[in-house]
Amino acid sequence: MGYTSWFQQHGQKHKAIIDKLTHLSDDEIIAYFNFENMVQKEPDFCPLYKKNQKCHETETLNCYLCACPNFRFKEDGFKKEANRTLFSYCDIKSKDGSQYISEDAIHQNCAGCMVPHHTSYIKKDFSKEWFKTMENVPST
Ligand code: SF4
Repeated sequence: MGYTSWFQQHGQKHKAIIDKLTHLSDDEIIAYFNFENMVQKEPDFCPLYKKNQKCHETETLNCYLCACPNFRFKEDGFKKEANRTLFSYCDIKSKDGSQYISEDAIHQNCAGCMVPHHTSYIKKDFSKEWFKTMENVPST
């Protein structure tokens, strides 16, 4: 599956969860998205849940902002850098981000970055509308 299809599907899954949590406060919704709870209650949200595996090596992980509002992606690439195509980058140049560089492509590597997974960050601009929060992620 390409990134754009994943992005659309993931946003729909996020919305389906939000739509059934109308009885919860914002703080309770954020807590619901804690990794341990999601593994139990929403096993189809992320393929890693079935293996009880986190995408980052960390004790606490919140999945509410999975995708990350600072990620930028373009299916056919933003630009050429020498003979490589830059497909994605971090809009805030996180010091914990890095790049996967292959022979012909450059992708943002977020494996070391916890920015969107901290509860304090999620609360800062909290919205139940995932697609709105992520509106700048995909470029056409
Ligand atoms: S490096 Fe961090 S802040 Fe930047 S796009 Fe990746 S997860 Fe988001």
